[in-house]
Amino acid sequence: MALKYQRILLKISGEALGGEKGTGFDEPTMDAICGGVKKAHDLGVQIGIVVGGGNFWRGRSSGKMERTLADKIGMLATVMNALAVSDKLEQLGVETEVFTSITMPQVAPAFTRKDALKAMADGKIAIFGGGTGNPFFSTDTTTALRAVEVSADIMFKATMVDGVYDKDPHKYPDAKKYDTLTFTKVLEDRLAVMDGTAATLCRDNKLPILVFDLADPDNIAKAVQGENVGTLVYEG
Ligand code: UDP
Repeated sequence: MALKYQRILLKISGEALGGEKGTGFDEPTMDAICGGVKKAHDLGVQIGIVVGGGNFWRGRSSGKMERTLADKIGMLATVMNALAVSDKLEQLGVETEVFTSITMPQVAPAFTRKDALKAMADGKIAIFGGGTGNPFFSTDTTTALRAVEVSADIMFKATMVDGVYDKDPHKYPDAKKYDTLTFTKVLEDRLAVMDGTAATLCRDNKLPILVFDLADPDNIAKAVQGENVGTLVYEG
C-alpha cells in the first residue's frame, strides 16, 4: 500500500510511557508503543520522535519552585524518556539516534537539522530529547518545531483520546468529535488539544497535525497509509 506521508514527526506524551499509572516506565506499554512505531517504520516512512516528560515531571505543576528551574528538570526528564524509547526500539531491531537540544555530549549528540536528516535517510529513527532547550515551552511545541525544521510532512500527536472533541468526552456524553479542524478554530475556541504556541507554529508554517489514540499502537501505521484514525488539524 502506498504511503501517504514520507516523513513524520511523532509526539508521544511522557504519560503514555507510564501505562495505567501514568508515571515512570511501564515496560509492557512501552513495548506495545514501540512495536507500533516499528510497524510504521517497516513501511518505509522516515520517523522522528519527540517524547514528553510528564511521566516524571512537568514544570508548570511544580509548586513553589522557580519556573525556569522547574522547566529545566522537565527538559531533563524528556532526555531520560528519549533514551528509554531509543533502547526499546533498538531491542526490537530498529536503529535509532538520539539528539538533544541541550548539549550533553556524553549522553547524545546535539541536534542539528543536517544530522537528523542524515540519520533518518540512513533508516534510523531520530529521537529528539530536551524539548526546545528553553523554559516556558512544551514538547508539543518542540515537535512542531522539529517537524518544521526537518521538513516533515505532518506531526502525529498520539494521545489518550481518539481525536479532538468540542468538549471533554470523558465528562460530556454528547461531545462531538471533529474529523477535520483548522488551527484558527483550535486557537479561537481554546480547544484543549495542544498549546497555543504549537498551534500557531503549525498554522504559520502550514504543518498539519493528526491527533489520534495511542491505545491502539497500530494507529501509527494506519495513519501513515492514509487511514482516517483521528482528527486532522490543518489550515486550508
Ligand atoms: N519543557 C520545557 N521546554 C520545552 C519542552 C519541555 O521547559 O521546550 C519542560 C516543561 O517543564 C514541561 C516538561 O519539560 O512541563 C515536560 O514536557 P511536557 O509537559 O510537554 O510533557 P508531556 O506532558 O507531553 O509528557
